[in-house]
Amino acid sequence: MNSQIHNIHQQLMNKDITCTALVQEKLDLLKQNINNTVNALLDTLALDLAAKVDAKIANGETIGLLEGIPFGIKDVYMVQGTYTTASSDLLKNYKSAYTATAIQKLLDAGAIPLVKENCDSFGHGSSSENTIFGAVKNAVNPDLVGGGSSGGSAVNVAKDYTVFSIGGDTGGSVRQPAGYNNVYGLKPTYGRISRFGLMAYASSTDCVGPIAKSIEDIRIVLNVMSGKDVKDQTTYTSTEIDQDAISSSENIKKVGYFKNFIENDAIDAEVKSNFLATIEKIKAKRIEVKALDFFESETLVSTYYTLAMAETASNLSRLDGTNYGNRIEADNLKETYAVTRSENFSEESKRRIVGGNQVLSQGFSDEIYLKGLNLRDQISKNFENDFKDVDIILSPVTPNTPPKIGDSLKDPHAMYLSDAYTVGFSLGQLPTLTVPQGTATGLQITAAKHNDELVLKFANFLKDTI
Ligand code: GLN
Repeated sequence: MNSQIHNIHQQLMNKDITCTALVQEKLDLLKQNINNTVNALLDTLALDLAAKVDAKIANGETIGLLEGIPFGIKDVYMVQGTYTTASSDLLKNYKSAYTATAIQKLLDAGAIPLVKENCDSFGHGSSSENTIFGAVKNAVNPDLVGGGSSGGSAVNVAKDYTVFSIGGDTGGSVRQPAGYNNVYGLKPTYGRISRFGLMAYASSTDCVGPIAKSIEDIRIVLNVMSGKDVKDQTTYTSTEIDQDAISSSENIKKVGYFKNFIENDAIDAEVKSNFLATIEKIKAKRIEVKALDFFESETLVSTYYTLAMAETASNLSRLDGTNYGNRIEADNLKETYAVTRSENFSEESKRRIVGGNQVLSQGFSDEIYLKGLNLRDQISKNFENDFKDVDIILSPVTPNTPPKIGDSLKDPHAMYLSDAYTVGFSLGQLPTLTVPQGTATGLQITAAKHNDELVLKFANFLKDTI
């Protein structure tokens, strides 16, 4: 079985390596910041924790599976006492007062946080160029973008700077950079992992998501972070996903894919032909494949952005330099708010705040916001019907390969359209995983709500099939 977590665990237990040496080696690599993935290094904390793990091992004590495993954290998660900047000027001096539930659970399991990772500011973007820390460079080709918004996290995993990283996925921000850097990235069912302490972007689709190099590592980290949390009322109690339960693909009988995603001018010819070749390989394994009808990409993208902008405009209204943020004093309070926000939010974030407030304003909200909500319900209904028929829906992660650094900034609309295949599953609150196979930017495996286990199971099947 392929798992860095199990391998490192064994090496630590066998005393082949020390945790301090392992952590130091990764910190040294991260310090060079070659791909602009690092917003802040947590070196003192990490080395302290590593020394404790080494002391335990030297004492002959057993350690848990995640104990001593180094990981990265997208810079939108609160970790008490660390800077949590959301890659923004507004919060560049903000220190977290508490720790996010998902991160706390990993810390309680003994995992070692190394780094707060670069990302698109407040999760706004698909390329990790909307950041004050410099554009994240792709792990495979540094002239290309790292993807976004969790670009730093995906690149760190791809380059082995972290064993796993925790991204955040509102409309594709874990899945798309995972695809751009050839690693695994999971967006679990909405509510499976607590969002408490994850800076809110669009609350109705925000999800905590692990990025790693194997399905097994995704499974381990998902299990640790999942569960009901009184601090997030959308969370639910889930059962642990067992290693054996996902090892065989029996009872996966029928797979669907959206015809209009594939028969579309916007898709890259190679992504299309690779995807269709994968479908043939699945059929050859006697799994039935059905082409499904779905909403047009433009409808998905506009519904998602309408709702995401409305929600982010509301969520970010608290950042006015009073309780949070880099306050810029002006002549009076109102001016102070205006100048603080105008100077400290990026162009992209301002575009979304203005758009979102427009969507919510009197005279527009019925026509735009309520229509968006209505479409979201229709999209969810469509998924419910599809999953009465098929077990899994398979799709490419993106229509195209990663753009060159600089290109997305010139054309935000084209950037929004690059989210065409990921945002629908977010609106449906479904579990969906990027695997680094099948097309140049991977494949996306989606199941019905709460069926995260089936997603991992099918991923294991695909690993051996294509
Ligand atoms: N690219 C999408 C957006 O900009 C998704 C971002 C995310 O999931 N945080 O909204």
